[in-house]
Amino acid sequence: MAYGNLETLYRQVIMDHYKNPRNKGLKGDDSFYTVHIKKPTCGDDLTIQIKVEDGRITEIYQDGVGCSISMSSASVMSETVKGMKIEDVLKIIDNYVHMVKGEPFDENLDMGDAIVYQGVSQFPQRFKCATIAWNALSKAIEKYLNSPYHKDEE
Ligand code: ZN
Repeated sequence: MAYGNLETLYRQVIMDHYKNPRNKGLKGDDSFYTVHIKKPTCGDDLTIQIKVEDGRITEIYQDGVGCSISMSSASVMSETVKGMKIEDVLKIIDNYVHMVKGEPFDENLDMGDAIVYQGVSQFPQRFKCATIAWNALSKAIEKYLNSPYHKDEE
């Protein structure tokens, strides 16, 4: 596929997630790990909730307000990691951050629709928009890993 077509396809995926966000709306209870992040500079404001069972993200919700990049990537992120093992999710977060920074990343690692944010590396000012959801996810996983409940499991 020519680069122009790929770019169009990527833009369509982003707009689809922006207009029809997946896993939108906070429905989690006390058994979820919740993280809220607000970026005053561009107004992106996002909350995510994850439920972890047997080392897997079994449920995830996201809600917030912000630009098309931040809101669509929250939808993409939620869809990508739902059902995944925490250790695999951590690999994707790391790979994704390298990709949007324009650094070398593992192109063979399946990141689902998250690959469409590759072009963000050309717009460093949008880096925060493209990573807010993944940043929130990483903080939620940190909460899970540090929770007494998780330590009891081991
Ligand atoms: Zn933004």
